[in-house]
Amino acid sequence: MTITTYTKAVGFIVALALSGCAATSSSKSEPGKSLDSSGISPREARAELIAGNKRFLEGGMEAHAWQQSSVIKTGTYGQSPSVGILACADSRIPVEIIFDQGVGDLFVVRVAGNIDTPQGNGTFEYGLKALGVHTIVVLGHTKCGAVVATIAGKPLPSNMGSLASGIQPALKGVLPAATETPSQELITTCCEANVRYQMKKLRADSAVLRDAEKAGELVILGAMYDVDNGRVTFLD
Ligand SMILES: [Zn+2]
Repeated sequence: MTITTYTKAVGFIVALALSGCAATSSSKSEPGKSLDSSGISPREARAELIAGNKRFLEGGMEAHAWQQSSVIKTGTYGQSPSVGILACADSRIPVEIIFDQGVGDLFVVRVAGNIDTPQGNGTFEYGLKALGVHTIVVLGHTKCGAVVATIAGKPLPSNMGSLASGIQPALKGVLPAATETPSQELITTCCEANVRYQMKKLRADSAVLRDAEKAGELVILGAMYDVDNGRVTFLD
């Protein structure tokens, strides 16, 4: 839920209490919490991502109307998102929509194969140090084309080869041999292995992120999005 709608929801509940009415809810999901880093812990942020995905699945989304007050607030006072997301560029994974979040809620890096790059890693370092990001989610997905291309093992033209080389090390131990006809099960196994590998790589490539995690200032999580049903499942 956006900061705006959360504020409205709180105001509504207060109004009900003052008028002596009993609040009843007919919605299937609980109202969301703001993911502003000043008011939410990593544990609460994870719970809100799960709750937001539940609202998305149930058709009870709250964040996707014109968010004028969130725009005005973040424009005036700046952004302070608590959650960074490393996701694939795949058009089936619009991150704010699948988590039912809005303006100022998520700090998102997207690149095919959700691979850790120096630029993406630096972006999260900035999010941590300058904005208050305390949770990073590496979000993989089923049927990832970049992973499928890497499984096939054929050289990719031009700069696309850099995507496969970013995924290749993740498949050691889960891919017996390159194949152009992998089963869906094998693809999903490789996509999950890629998430776990990119989580490790985020830490390995950055003393800033590594030290913050050791100090308890940062939590790095892995999750998978199922493109067939819209469900996000956390891996840990
Ligand atoms: Zn993908």
